[in-house]
Amino acid sequence: MLFTRPDVPRPSLSAREKAKTLLERRLGASKVLTARDACERFQRDESEAEGELPDAVVLAETAEDILTALAVAREAEVPITPRAGGTGRTGGAVPVAGGIVLATSGMKSIVEIDRKEGLVVVEPGVVLADLHAAVEAEGWFYPPDPNSLKSCALGGNLAENAGGPRAFKYGVTRDYVLGLEALLIGGQRIQAGRRTFKGVTGYDVTALLVGSEGTLAVFGQATLRLIPKPASVMTLLTLFTTVNQAGEAVQAIISAGISPRCIELLDSSTLEAMRLAGNSINSAAGAMLLIEVDGDELSVQRQAERISGACEDVKALEVLVAQDAAQRERLWSARRDMSYAVRKLSKKKLSEDIVVPRQQIGALLDFVRVLSERTGVRTLTYGHAGDGNLHVNFLWNEDHEIPAVERAIVELFERVIQLRGTLSGEHGIGVLKAPYLPMEQSPDLIALQKDLKRVFDPAGLLNPGKIFPPSAHRAC
Ligand SMILES: Cc1cc2nc3c(=O)[nH]c(=O)nc-3n(C[C@H](O)[C@H](O)[C@H](O)COP(=O)(O)OP(=O)(O)OC[C@H]3O[C@@H](n4cnc5c(N)ncnc54)[C@H](O)[C@@H]3O)c2cc1C
Repeated sequence: MLFTRPDVPRPSLSAREKAKTLLERRLGASKVLTARDACERFQRDESEAEGELPDAVVLAETAEDILTALAVAREAEVPITPRAGGTGRTGGAVPVAGGIVLATSGMKSIVEIDRKEGLVVVEPGVVLADLHAAVEAEGWFYPPDPNSLKSCALGGNLAENAGGPRAFKYGVTRDYVLGLEALLIGGQRIQAGRRTFKGVTGYDVTALLVGSEGTLAVFGQATLRLIPKPASVMTLLTLFTTVNQAGEAVQAIISAGISPRCIELLDSSTLEAMRLAGNSINSAAGAMLLIEVDGDELSVQRQAERISGACEDVKALEVLVAQDAAQRERLWSARRDMSYAVRKLSKKKLSEDIVVPRQQIGALLDFVRVLSERTGVRTLTYGHAGDGNLHVNFLWNEDHEIPAVERAIVELFERVIQLRGTLSGEHGIGVLKAPYLPMEQSPDLIALQKDLKRVFDPAGLLNPGKIFPPSAHRAC
């Protein structure tokens, strides 16, 4: 583990052997991986978290397979970690104590698109980009769009309550979930929520399960609300000399009552990474905003003109409008590949996903710049500026740099809390941020959430080591 190892014991050898035997007997060898090299790729996700080698990986094809795997975990008393696309940023799908990894990426069916109601029923392994394509072909729109959309899947999106650039206008995954089929480690198969757009029957268990990071239940299916596909979209790329000017432009756009669907901000270090990756960007530019508007053709035109005016008022260096769909796609693929471009700059990278009130974006960016100069830790910031959700990336090469990185992260989090922000906007807490949870949440609130966890999972076998701080931690 990078900073603080969670206090979850590895199960005994006999428990692990029992789990493997029961899985193979009940699911058949074709759905159970036990060979070291096959299991290795389920040990990590797209974060710096390092788990233990899983003892077995279940390749679930049906809800019954999921229930069988959960029953085996319960009987053998081994941990079980759900997984979808494996693109998580906080180690949510990483098995911290080995045991079983429950891979749901094989459950790829779009079960139903109800064109009249405007809803879709999906399995957890459906890749998000495939869902977008399928519903858009029918004239409908599913807004959540994490930048990993070509490789993440709905199970992970639901468990992390994923956002993305369009969240500024359209909200996050939870805003589109009507109902869930949830499979519990006790063996229950519950249908939470509903199929109608409105409904307040009982506690909102659906809302609780969305964002629960695979710690309360495993999703077998989800019913999602769709909205009509916007008729027209326009993308603007604006360049500024300084990041503070870009921050002022964001404020000016929002204060003018314009609602772009995305406002993505990239700081000067990020632009440098993009230049190194082969993108030609004005060398005088120290910040970029990628802004997208949608609606009917006339309103899109009007919004774009007002945004250009607002950017020019704060002395933008350039305001460019993508001329066609191909140019739009080129701009977005450069943005989506950013994380991989940044990764090439150093051996190690940790992306901290924080949120501050929008009017504090400038203060946060100033703080990060000074923090980086003072500590010598290289940083690079980009993110969804429209909703104050920034990704502050810490880069380093050698292990001896880790204590400085760790101190810089604690300082960042302290500043975020001072600015009345929050420690995660969309990547979740997982294992990497668990030690820092008490910086934001009171002991009583954490205890209440642990009580809820015990109701769903009394033995603590479902995705242990996530969200809650280990007993010995250094962050506070
Ligand atoms: C390049 C890149 C860009 C990204 N951009 C964004 C972004 O813009 N916005 C954003 O929100 N995130 C972003 N992410 C983070 C990540 O893609 C999201 O958190 C995504 O929702 C994870 O989906 P996944 O299928 O990969 O889940 P996984 O990594 O497999 O799992 C994530 C969590 O979901 C749980 N889980 C998985 N399947 C199930 C299931 N069937 N039932 C219950 N729990 C389950 C796991 O236990 C784990 O806790 C980005 C990641 C990368 C690598």
